[in-house]
Amino acid sequence: MDLSHIINELGENRDQYFNAIAPPIWQASNFSFKDVESFSNAFEDERNDYIYSRGINPTTDILRKKLAALEGSEDCLLFSSGAAAIFAGVLANVKAGDHIVSVKNPYSSAKKMFDAILPRFNITVTYIDGRQAGDWQEATRDNTVLYYLESPNSWTYELQPLAEIARLAKEKNIITFIDNTYCTPVYQNVVELGIDIAMQTATKYIGGHSDTLGGVLCGTNVMMKKIFDTEFMTIGSGLQPFNGWLLLRGLRTLPMRLERINQTTTQMIRFLESHEAIQRLIFPFHPSFDQYDLAKKQMKAALGLVTIVIKNKKRSAIIKFCESLQHFLMAVSWGGHESLVIPRCAFVKENVYDEENESHRHIRLYFGLEDPDYLIKDLQNALSQSASV
Ligand SMILES: *Cc1c(COP(=O)(O)O)cnc(C)c1O
Repeated sequence: MDLSHIINELGENRDQYFNAIAPPIWQASNFSFKDVESFSNAFEDERNDYIYSRGINPTTDILRKKLAALEGSEDCLLFSSGAAAIFAGVLANVKAGDHIVSVKNPYSSAKKMFDAILPRFNITVTYIDGRQAGDWQEATRDNTVLYYLESPNSWTYELQPLAEIARLAKEKNIITFIDNTYCTPVYQNVVELGIDIAMQTATKYIGGHSDTLGGVLCGTNVMMKKIFDTEFMTIGSGLQPFNGWLLLRGLRTLPMRLERINQTTTQMIRFLESHEAIQRLIFPFHPSFDQYDLAKKQMKAALGLVTIVIKNKKRSAIIKFCESLQHFLMAVSWGGHESLVIPRCAFVKENVYDEENESHRHIRLYFGLEDPDYLIKDLQNALSQSASV
């Protein structure tokens, strides 16, 4: 389907709201019916009607239709956050005694669910490197029901060969779930590659303005109905109308923002790779990346996030670098208009910091929508400040 059609027209019934270009925020908890029959029919599949906004709401429904089409899937469910989407999508597909195989460093809230919540219900998780399809084969047990993927990861960008793993999973009747936040469906079609459930957090690129959270699950009609009827409706963590409206507004400019960030990233990489203070950079589309070929094959682009290691190994040098930046804000998250920096050592206290452990020295940069030269000057200055620590 044409991206422009999805973003500008699909799912919008403007003649129902005075031909307003931007849809209203239907700030309503419930919707009334004229007769018992239509009231009763609405409950046959609550995804198809407006009954109560814990289920489907007209504002969020426009976004839902667009995001399903963007992912190339039959249906989509929207959540109040990416974490809520992960929780509902996984929980709906496991029961006591089941086993999950997961990439070793999934997003923190997924890891917390695997380590602190699911074991209470006798659901076990095996973490694997996951870069080879054989890793998945080996870790699979008779009671394995779900493969949890995240490709690329959002700090060190490990990939999984998605088509191969999806094929393996289908043979074994195992559900595949992927966190596709890094690429978005614009740059990685996971449904096409055979993945069953595609998750992304709308908080990042879809929102794009750092002003709302949101989470997305896409998959078949059958899978989405299953999740909707159980976890979605009972946890009650669906996306609220105003947040849906903000995300819809963000979506209008998604492809052009991604394009801009893609171009900026290319420029920043060129600057960083040749800078004398940089020891190494980690980026899926950089020839030094150990899964470069797979990245090129599986993803249409790599952008936004780059992890660097500076030559000066001192924790104080990393701190000096981060604190010298004027235009990269120090913050979690990414995908907004503003460039960001986050040093791993913020989570590794001084007494634990080991300069021989490269991961302690990781600094993740996110490039926003600013002028690349403006950002390069800032990096240039911060790098020279840190070199002399
Ligand atoms: C931010 C993030 C999430 C969680 O999304 P929230 O909207 O913050 O709950 C999940 N996965 C990845 C890769 C993320 O970056």
